[in-house]
Amino acid sequence: MSAKGKLITLEGIDGSGKSTVAKRLAENPLFSDFVFTREPTGSWIGEAVNRAIHSDTDHLAELLLFAADHAEHISKLIRPSLESGKNVVSDRYSASRYAYQGMTLAGRFDDPLKWIQDIHRGWTIKPDLIIFFDIDPGIAVSRCGKRGDRTKFEKIVFLEGVRENYLRLVEEDPDSFVLIDARRSIDDNEKEVVDIIQSFL
Ligand code: ADP
Ligand code: MG
Repeated sequence: MSAKGKLITLEGIDGSGKSTVAKRLAENPLFSDFVFTREPTGSWIGEAVNRAIHSDTDHLAELLLFAADHAEHISKLIRPSLESGKNVVSDRYSASRYAYQGMTLAGRFDDPLKWIQDIHRGWTIKPDLIIFFDIDPGIAVSRCGKRGDRTKFEKIVFLEGVRENYLRLVEEDPDSFVLIDARRSIDDNEKEVVDIIQSFL
């Protein structure tokens, strides 16, 4: 069997700078043979996820759409790419679900983060490396200006919970995560991520 590719995911709260760095990585000749992707995906299921996010859809229904998009993403792109030996970088992936829907489903389950992890078990593909863009939610929200439909205060309080969930994931599985201090400049974040990926491979 040929060597499998590695799955590297970019995680962190809204405004931490993931998509900005992902775009730069995709333009970097060092990674010209990588597959770059994201969640939610551009498939019709990913579009349904975006509809759910931007409406008052039930949060459990929203989670299940996210899970469906993840399943489609894995079977159509992630697994075939890894099996053909390609390295994959995904801007958001399963940890986003555990961290975000772990917040939106608070009160519906005793431990929503764990419940969501449990329903992914047996079919998700665990990343080889998760790069966590860590940042204070206040800074992240101010970067995003008016993006999103929550008030600034609600958004910060929500993202503080999401960040705590991410930190719980790091604590549960420290070997999978590398943290970066995402407060710094775009150039600094990019350089650190490039170094992390190169030394990992
Ligand atoms: P994410 O994908 O993590 O939500 P983005 O990459 O879309 O974050 O960045 C959110 C906003 O912050 C964008 O307007 C982007 O230009 C800006 N931004 C990204 N990285 C930085 C940075 N390191 N410093 C300042 N602003 C940034
Ligand atoms: Mg983004």
